[in-house]
Amino acid sequence: MERTFVMLKPDCLNRAMLGKVISRLEEKGLKLIGMKMLRFNDAIAKEHYAHLASKPFFPSIVEFMKRSPVVATAWEGKDAVEVVRKAVGATNGREAPPGTIRGDYSMSVQANLIHASDSKETAKKEIGRFFKDEELFEWEPAAISYTYSASEV
Ligand code: UDP
Ligand code: MG
Repeated sequence: MERTFVMLKPDCLNRAMLGKVISRLEEKGLKLIGMKMLRFNDAIAKEHYAHLASKPFFPSIVEFMKRSPVVATAWEGKDAVEVVRKAVGATNGREAPPGTIRGDYSMSVQANLIHASDSKETAKKEIGRFFKDEELFEWEPAAISYTYSASEV
């Protein structure tokens, strides 16, 4: 099964939306395999958002991500990277369609609640950045045979 990385950003914790956002992924049928609370520092922010380092808004994202703790999570499921990106919606919460997490709960391009890996390669890197092997769990959800057909697992 494919793995992806999801981070609940400072706005998610400060707006008390953590449970709601995690529920959306759980209810979709994704399996949580890792979870931890941490606080960003400059080094983590610069590594995680390296692809945006040249953008004018980069210093503001770094400050935003350091404002409070975040919650890092890893999830597993068939086509998990794409499924989660679709569930999350467009970067700008005002443009993300209703029915997506950002579309339903965010009014901002920066305070958009959640980060999700954008490719399988990124997912592998991001999971490795935030989790040690022993912090990721293999387990079989009781409902697995009602979540997928036998040919899909
Ligand atoms: N961001 C921002 N201003 C922008 C674009 C992005 O503050 O104009 C922030 C926003 O929080 C976004 C993050 O930078 O989620 C990473 O940007 P990316 O383009 O990777 O968007 P995402 O993959 O999160 O949709
Ligand atoms: Mg991104």
